[in-house]
Amino acid sequence: MFVKSLRLNIKLISFIISILLVMILSIVIFYSFAEGSDNEETSSDKKDYIKWVDFNITSEALKLTSKLDIDSHNNNSELKYNWIELLAYLASQNGGNFKNFKKSQLDELVKRLENGETMSDMTSNVKFYDYYYEAYSAVLSGFIGNYSIETSNKNGEKTFEERYGLKAFLPIAKNYNFSHYDDFGNSRSYGFKRVHLGNDLMGSIGTPIIAVESGIIEHLGWNQYGGWRIGIRSFDTKRYYYYAHLRKNHPYAEGIEEGMTVKAGDVIGYLGMTGYSVKENVNNINVPHLHFGMQLIFDESQVDSPNEIWIDVYQIIEFLKQNRSEVYVSNEETKDYSRKFDIMENE
Ligand SMILES: [Zn+2]
Repeated sequence: MFVKSLRLNIKLISFIISILLVMILSIVIFYSFAEGSDNEETSSDKKDYIKWVDFNITSEALKLTSKLDIDSHNNNSELKYNWIELLAYLASQNGGNFKNFKKSQLDELVKRLENGETMSDMTSNVKFYDYYYEAYSAVLSGFIGNYSIETSNKNGEKTFEERYGLKAFLPIAKNYNFSHYDDFGNSRSYGFKRVHLGNDLMGSIGTPIIAVESGIIEHLGWNQYGGWRIGIRSFDTKRYYYYAHLRKNHPYAEGIEEGMTVKAGDVIGYLGMTGYSVKENVNNINVPHLHFGMQLIFDESQVDSPNEIWIDVYQIIEFLKQNRSEVYVSNEETKDYSRKFDIMENE
């Protein structure tokens, strides 16, 4: 009798244990499945991100539309223009090709807006308007806005002045010469066969290099192709600015470190001819120049992948010539430069 009930108890206990095991297992499976389908959902949601941008807006179109935007805000006009909307509309009319852009096309658009038509009415059925708006926002949204900048009055005293306007700078400091041509897509032979994904700005060694837009230094140090280089990510994470071939021995401005925040117009480094070498600090570039590039990031999976989007920045450089950061020698010992007029962005 005793033996029998023990046997029964053992049977009962092992039955309960197996039931419990099955329950635990099914809970685990359920949750891991639920998590898996969650991930699937988010990744399928993100499949909509932009995969390619062909940026060819001319500097003339950039100048005209930015002027409309800036003037309408500064004059506090009833009708305020958004240059990115204007450009996206023009692109939706010309198939994204500004090669034959004419001012009359913009004039006509402005006339319709002045006559009371709204951009949302005009674009509700326009194919690709939303695509161009998102693509051009990724390129240009950090360029125009509110900011305060130091200015000096007649007595040489500095005061901050509030403005609405262009707050992105040319990457070459004011009063330094440079030359460039549209070399995007040209073939390069060092390393593997590849194309040129930026714009080379030829200048003198030591020319102070300026941060085009504010952001966080994501990469700093030696790179086989770029030599001493800096990569800066915009605060909205959509743009990655790449400045390469900086000066041998003294590539970076004083205090510049990976992970730190820099402001548009700050001195970040000095023009040089380093790169094309596995070994660090080697001048293997023939002509001193800054390689300047801009990568667009709509989804983090595009970083360091074969799907990187680099755009042609030649026209952007032409456009930015109107806004250059003035510099001075701020450290006589190290011969380091700093910006003359500080900026504060209030957005
Ligand atoms: Zn280059």
